[in-house]
Amino acid sequence: MNDMTSQEQTQQPTAKLPSSARVVVIGGGAVGASVLYHLAELGWTDCVLLEKNELTSGSTWHAAGNCPNYVGSWTIMKMQSYSTSLYRKLGELVDYPMNYHVTGAIRLAHSRQRMEEFRHVERMGRQMGVEFVEMSNKEMQDIHPFLETHDLYGGQWDPLDGDIDPAQLTQALAKGARDKGQKIIRFCPVTAVRRENGEWVLTTPAGEIRCEYVVNAAGYRAAELGRMFGRNVPCVSLEHQYIITEAIPELTARDTKVPLLRDPDSSYYLRQEKDGLLLGPYEKNCRAHWTDASDPMPEDFSFQLYNDDLERLEWYIEDACARVPILGTAGITRVVNGPIPYAPDGLPLIGQMPGVPNAFEACVFTFGIVQAGGAGKLLSEIIVEGESETDSWAVDPRRFTDHVDEVYTRAKAIETYSHEYAMHFPQIQWPAGRKAKTSPLYDRLASAGAEFGSYGGWERADWFPRNDADRRPADSYDRQHWFEDVGAECRHVAEHVGMIELTGFSRFRLKGAGAADWLRSKVTGGLPKVGRIGLVYFASPKGKILSEMTATRFGDDDILLMTGAGAYWHDRDLLHFALPADSGITITDVTAEMATLLVTGPKAPALLAAVAGASMSHADFPWLSHRKLTIGGAEVTAIRVSFAGEAGWELHCAMADVTAVYDAIVAEGKAHQLGHFGMLALDSMRLEKGYRSWKSDLTSDYTMLESGLERWVNFDKPEFIGRTSLLTEQQAGAKREFVTLTLDDPEDGEAFGEAVYLSTVMVDGVSAGLVVSAGYGHRVGKSIAMAVLDKEAVAKGGALSVDVLGRKRAAKIVEGGVLYDPDNSRMKV
Ligand SMILES: Cc1cc2nc3c(=O)[nH]c(=O)nc-3n(C[C@H](O)[C@H](O)[C@H](O)COP(=O)(O)OP(=O)(O)OC[C@H]3O[C@@H](n4cnc5c(N)ncnc54)[C@H](O)[C@@H]3O)c2cc1C
Repeated sequence: MNDMTSQEQTQQPTAKLPSSARVVVIGGGAVGASVLYHLAELGWTDCVLLEKNELTSGSTWHAAGNCPNYVGSWTIMKMQSYSTSLYRKLGELVDYPMNYHVTGAIRLAHSRQRMEEFRHVERMGRQMGVEFVEMSNKEMQDIHPFLETHDLYGGQWDPLDGDIDPAQLTQALAKGARDKGQKIIRFCPVTAVRRENGEWVLTTPAGEIRCEYVVNAAGYRAAELGRMFGRNVPCVSLEHQYIITEAIPELTARDTKVPLLRDPDSSYYLRQEKDGLLLGPYEKNCRAHWTDASDPMPEDFSFQLYNDDLERLEWYIEDACARVPILGTAGITRVVNGPIPYAPDGLPLIGQMPGVPNAFEACVFTFGIVQAGGAGKLLSEIIVEGESETDSWAVDPRRFTDHVDEVYTRAKAIETYSHEYAMHFPQIQWPAGRKAKTSPLYDRLASAGAEFGSYGGWERADWFPRNDADRRPADSYDRQHWFEDVGAECRHVAEHVGMIELTGFSRFRLKGAGAADWLRSKVTGGLPKVGRIGLVYFASPKGKILSEMTATRFGDDDILLMTGAGAYWHDRDLLHFALPADSGITITDVTAEMATLLVTGPKAPALLAAVAGASMSHADFPWLSHRKLTIGGAEVTAIRVSFAGEAGWELHCAMADVTAVYDAIVAEGKAHQLGHFGMLALDSMRLEKGYRSWKSDLTSDYTMLESGLERWVNFDKPEFIGRTSLLTEQQAGAKREFVTLTLDDPEDGEAFGEAVYLSTVMVDGVSAGLVVSAGYGHRVGKSIAMAVLDKEAVAKGGALSVDVLGRKRAAKIVEGGVLYDPDNSRMKV
């Protein structure tokens, strides 16, 4: 290891430790400083930041400082564009001038599909006021004269991209925070934490400090700090390198810096640094550190780097020299190889520390310089106001649940790093970290031909290829290679009967005197009667959607709450944090104990009647009711409901019994033309029914009313969270509305349904909202999009269109929002 500055950890804390603070932020990199600054901006000025060494001594000091707006995620683009606009004025705001070169950036496209991805992001940016401009090869050369373009398809211009000095940025945020009264104590590591009388007590060499809230902003040391809270933070440190060249005469001769270049297809960034160039690749064979006992994380790695490893970058250097030939004319003067923290999906952790009260995370940032500003704002809103302006699920630490251990994190992180610039096609499933959770049916489904996908770590059948040559992940924004097979699965369900395993639902059993009343006071609507099931919604104080759960009522005060596999820790916190300790109500997590099959289609009643020896007619077993059945000798809770929109039952049984239940249904199924279907078919069918999905259609970007969920809001109830805001909104009229759209499809099969997610909806060419989920409805033969639109824009009655990867598709609103069997008669046979 290189020791760049030989900082010794013999330094004393730089100030006296106060005995208490409202919030203690642990870690003084760009992110911790930004959290402290934004807490002050929201009026909380009695907070303290504790830093183990000097400010910036983690990953921040050596970052390249690039600050793009471009990114494929709505949440992250909001964060990054907030950061870049803050950084442009921060120096003036806090009186701390900094080097921030807004050079603009060119992103190169080697193919039509890459350009379509750029167009998609361009339209998304437009929705939030972020401008990107498509460019021809000639236009790119006009602003970057050293660029070789003969083999390119074109590119995209981000006028507000650039590079900032990360240390100056951190110091500016720290100054802004201090000026408002916040305290920063350097050389003051947190060495232990404990919870006492509803407060956190943090131990440091300078003594103890008590606080109401605590934030882990410890960068690549986040896992070490997390362990003090009993939390396993999914974080691995990877090597990331960039090289800097000596001065290049052609650059010295210019008055202005050349714009930053990103070549995602070759996987690197290249920008001017002083009069030389700085090249940073995301290489295929990257290296992880500090993942096992043979390579322990040093006690102190402040201001240090890994040894150079230029061999790994050879291919990228050669490629970049061909792209910008002046690069090859200069020698390398400096190599920076530093620890870059990665979570399994490469996105940071910002928000509630899973399961730990009043503890938050703002760590594991891969792009922590450009994201620091937005992250500080987001987390401060969550802490101070209890919710953020923008939905933050993409970065919520609870998106990773119990299957995410060190081995999984390492495998996924390496995969994500090497795909940092890859095209993320809709429904793509990468291969690393798979089979984290499998049910006893896995082998049977594999034998039946399933291609699997991962859902909250659970392996579920995605589809059943009829031709082995088609067994490959999504590889296009165009119509996917599984289109016909998934269509066949949907048609089979509609004509006969299909079965899918849905194991992995998160399940919480609520019991005890007063359980129903307690739940009723938390959700926006009513509860189902005993023997019935119903959807319940949790709203935020601002009336935004927090969660959707299916409530199955077994007794007056005995309710099973089921939610999606991915919602596991989010919903566990939602319930546990809300329940008073002395309530006498219990919440039991039965997630791992239960398995689920969905059997659905017009022949489902006959099949299940035969296999269970019970009448499954609608008169005896109505829609949205539940009964105990015996199938294959095992007890099953059958719930008459089907996300596919056909007659159907979810069969919930003990995990140990699921093979017996499955085998009995398969054996009897031969007489009823039972077929398998997968998650892709289920998604297609639920779109046709207008059924919404948590965190794609139902997010906290929108209120209950904007999402068309007024049926589940009962204003007659005297109290529930969000009531006041929702009532005000109802009286004024919601500004946005949730709609289902059908789209005119192209003849060429390009750019089909799935690709329109997060696309812009336009009325007479003017942006009017955003597509929240989309796909192709095989039973109705149409591309379908769900969108949230500006009511006023729609009311004008102009021509609707959706911009799919830059191509305009005419769109129509579906009256009532349901395309398939709108009166639900098929479900009630
Ligand atoms: C070579 C390289 C180039 C990069 N280029 C870019 C780029 O161009 N753009 C970009 O956006 N990002 C870039 N990054 C990523 C960026 O450096 C990080 O995402 C960012 O610095 C993370 O900031 P942070 O505040 O979260 O963590 P850090 O900067 O690591 O800060 C965490 C702090 O916590 C302190 N700490 C740890 N444990 C304790 C404890 N127990 N008590 C008290 N304090 C503690 C540490 O001492 C450290 O100072 C690059 C990274 C590398 C390696």
